[in-house]
Amino acid sequence: MPENKTRDTVILGSGCSGLTAAIYAARANLKPLVLEGHEPGGQLSITTLVENFPGWPNGIQGPELIENMKQQATRFGAELTMAHLVSVDLSRHPYVLNLGANREPIHTRTLIIASGASARWLNLPSEQALIGHGVSSCATCDGFFSSGKDIAVIGGGDSAMEEALFLTRFARSVTLINRTANFRASRIMLERAMAHASIKFLPSTVVEEVLGVEQKDVRGLKLRNTVTGERSELPVQFMFLGIGHIPNAKMFDGQLDLDPDGYILTQGNVFPAHNGQPVPGVFACGDIQDRRYRQAITAAGTGCMAALEVEKWLEEHGR
Ligand SMILES: Cc1cc2nc3c(=O)[nH]c(=O)nc-3n(C[C@H](O)[C@H](O)[C@H](O)COP(=O)(O)OP(=O)(O)OC[C@H]3O[C@@H](n4cnc5c(N)ncnc54)[C@H](O)[C@@H]3O)c2cc1C
Repeated sequence: MPENKTRDTVILGSGCSGLTAAIYAARANLKPLVLEGHEPGGQLSITTLVENFPGWPNGIQGPELIENMKQQATRFGAELTMAHLVSVDLSRHPYVLNLGANREPIHTRTLIIASGASARWLNLPSEQALIGHGVSSCATCDGFFSSGKDIAVIGGGDSAMEEALFLTRFARSVTLINRTANFRASRIMLERAMAHASIKFLPSTVVEEVLGVEQKDVRGLKLRNTVTGERSELPVQFMFLGIGHIPNAKMFDGQLDLDPDGYILTQGNVFPAHNGQPVPGVFACGDIQDRRYRQAITAAGTGCMAALEVEKWLEEHGR
């Protein structure tokens, strides 16, 4: 491939971190290419009202916020393409992005990894149909909407306990539902949750169906006891998943330093490394490197930082 076909930058992911990076890189005249991936628009595209993104006093629908970001990025020259990174060899620069069979590989001097961390779902059809209508995987984001309601939190680890405790600020009651008899959360988190008057525990229980698909609003859960096989219904109006996230960084395993759960480890928010050494022209932003905050605004913030670092890197190393 001739050198002039090598891109200045490619952005992996079209969630709010990737699109913010695209806005900044496009305004710096870098003509970024955004690979949209398996979930165009990222996690905000599957949610409904976003009330905590600054600048929208009455909130904004997640898909609309994402559409606005896309328009803002393309207005300045960003290109978006429906493609998924299959593999890349980060030991050879410029990087050649392999997009799988029937797709030309893409050559790039810099790479912004904004591939996010997908929430784990139960993958029940009724659950999927009610995401954004009483089913959520983000307590920080949607807790407010559960005010005065009876809710369920699925999971038995620390994140489920943390969500349950947080949600007691809003909900009338919180029922923690766990597949196994033992909740694997740390003792301190478990004790805190057990000591809370509004939290009930339902061990050895699985959700078979979320009720309310026709009404587009959660009305309850069909449950099964995994020991006795007994079935029951729990009348709740909200269900939160607290069973973790899957970072979309498998293709960088062995090439970038990852934490034990597979998140990209970064210095200064956006600088990944391999065996502690910087990787030339590669930056990471958003949820893929942030297991702590996981918010649209923090993802957008690090997306901005990654694009500014790309600009600096190209100035120093040549375009
Ligand atoms: C139900 C729900 C409600 C939420 N509500 C709020 C809220 O109200 N307020 C708030 O601030 N935050 C909210 N969040 C959190 C917020 O959505 C995330 O913090 C934010 O989307 C993270 O942005 P991101 O760009 O880092 O990753 P994501 O949004 O996860 O986007 C990742 C992108 O990477 C792409 N991708 C993945 N792998 C590849 C690959 N191999 N090749 C190419 N592309 C790839 C995907 O297709 C996707 O486009 C919510 C999240 C959920 C799940």
